[in-house]
Amino acid sequence: MDDFLPPDLRTPRREELTGMLMPWDKPLIIDGEVTACPQCGTYRDWIIITIREEVWLRCRAGHETHEHRLDTAWFNRNSGPMTHWHATLEDGLDAFGH
Ligand SMILES: [Zn+2]
Repeated sequence: MDDFLPPDLRTPRREELTGMLMPWDKPLIIDGEVTACPQCGTYRDWIIITIREEVWLRCRAGHETHEHRLDTAWFNRNSGPMTHWHATLEDGLDAFGH
């Protein structure tokens, strides 16, 4: 009669894998300060990545910095609707030309 799988089998366990990216071309201002890459000092043209409740900033040179002052809620407030689904982080970065 009931050929549905139990809910925990039907729902892909995506939480551990899902990250979201958004391009951020303008300077990123956090707490009133322009954020710069600690490694190369650039302050614009970011890809902002959220994964596992953490927010990471990736500069054009590929440096990735964990930004403790930002979180997923901030990301969701600032990102538009998701437009693409990428299998991997690398695919997503490619799509944004990083
Ligand atoms: Zn950098």
